[in-house]
Amino acid sequence: MTFPERAPDSEERRAAVLSHAVRHVPHYRDLLGPTSSQGLPRWDLVPLLTREGVDSEGARLVADGVDETSLRAVRTGGTTGRPATFLRDPDDGRRELAHVRDAWRPFGVAVDDPVAVFVARPVGAEGELHVAPSTGDLWLGGVRLSDDVLRRHHERLVAHRPALLRGYPSALALLADLMLREGRPAPPGLRATGSSSEVLLPHQREALRAAFGVPHANLYGQTEHVALACTCPAEDGLHVDETYGYVELVDDDGDVITEPDVVGEIVGTGLGNLAAPLLRYRTGDRGRWAPGACACGRAGPRLDRVEGRVRDVVIDAEGTSRLFGPWFYEKLAALSGVRAFQFVQRRPGELDVDVVLVPAAVVEVTDVESAVSHLAGFTTRVRRVSDVARTSVGKAPILVSRPTAV
Ligand SMILES: [Zn+2]
Repeated sequence: MTFPERAPDSEERRAAVLSHAVRHVPHYRDLLGPTSSQGLPRWDLVPLLTREGVDSEGARLVADGVDETSLRAVRTGGTTGRPATFLRDPDDGRRELAHVRDAWRPFGVAVDDPVAVFVARPVGAEGELHVAPSTGDLWLGGVRLSDDVLRRHHERLVAHRPALLRGYPSALALLADLMLREGRPAPPGLRATGSSSEVLLPHQREALRAAFGVPHANLYGQTEHVALACTCPAEDGLHVDETYGYVELVDDDGDVITEPDVVGEIVGTGLGNLAAPLLRYRTGDRGRWAPGACACGRAGPRLDRVEGRVRDVVIDAEGTSRLFGPWFYEKLAALSGVRAFQFVQRRPGELDVDVVLVPAAVVEVTDVESAVSHLAGFTTRVRRVSDVARTSVGKAPILVSRPTAV
C-alpha cells in the first residue's frame, strides 16, 4: 500500500491535468510530448517546476488558444527568493473562494455566514477598516496594533458577529492577549478562528483557544494556487483538498517521500487552472505527512506544516550555510509568555533573536537566552521588542536574513 492514502479518483484527476498539459501547453508539450499510443508519460518523470522555471518559461506555460489578456498576472512578493509572476484564469477567484469555504464547513461555518479578517497592515481608506464588496467580509487592520486599535477592533467584531474570524496568527494573538488581559468576551456567534499565511505557533494557538473558546482552522495555501489544506476541529494535521491540487512531498534530491513524519518540500499540481497549469510545482514550503487516521473520521492525506522556507539559510561563524529549521526555535516556541519571535541575521555567525513578550509574563529575557543557547556556531543576542519586523503585506517571517558577504 502506498502512503499517503489518497482518494480513489486522485490519480485520474492528476492524469487529466497532465494529459491536457502535454497536448495543449507548449512548455509541457516540448518537454514530455507528443503523446502517442503509449499514453501519458509516467508521473514521476514529470520534472519538478521551480519558481525560476515559471519566470523563465512565462507565456510558454499558457495553453493554446487562451487569450493571455484574459489572465491575471499575480506577482509574488515573498521574503525569500526573487519574485515571479503567476497567471490566474478568470475563474480563479470564484474557485478559490468555493474551496476555502468548503474547508471551513466542518467548523459549522456556512457559505453565507459573516466572516471577519484581521491583518497587520493598513486596510481601507482610514487604514483600520474595510468591507469587501464581493464577499461582505469585514477587514480589520492597522500598521501599529496598539491596545487602543485592538480595543476598537474588538468592539467592531462584537457588532459584526462573525461566524469565523481569520487572519495572521501573529495579529490574532495580539487581539487574544488583550481580550484575556481585559476580560473581554469572544464575539457572539463565533464558531471558529482561522489562520493562514504564517505558520501557527503553539503559544499563539493557546492564546486563541483561551480568548475565543472555539476550534481553530489552520489553512495552508500559496499564491501559486497549487495546494490547499486545512485542519478540521480535531486539529490533527491539515486535510489536503484533493480536488484543488495533487500534493506531494519531496526530499532534497527531489525524490517523493512516502513515509509519515519525514520533513520535505511541499510540491503541488493545481487541478483548477487549465489556462496556465503548474505541474509538480516546488512551493518552497516544508511539511510532513501526518501518520494514521484523523479523529474526525475523514480519510485522505493530512499535512503537518513546518515553519521555514526550504531555501531559508543562515550562515554560521565559519561561513557555512545552514538550513534554518525547527531546531533553531523549538525551545523558544515552547516557552509560554513569548508572543512572537524573529531571528534576524545581519552578519555571518550572528543571530539577533527579537522577542515580543506577553505583558506581565513570567518569562524573562534570560529564559529566552537559554532557549537559544544550544545554537553552536552562532553568537545570539536576545532583544525584547514591541513587534517583530513585517513584510510589505504585514506578515511576520520567523527568519529575516540579510547577511553581508563573508
Ligand atoms: Zn480531521
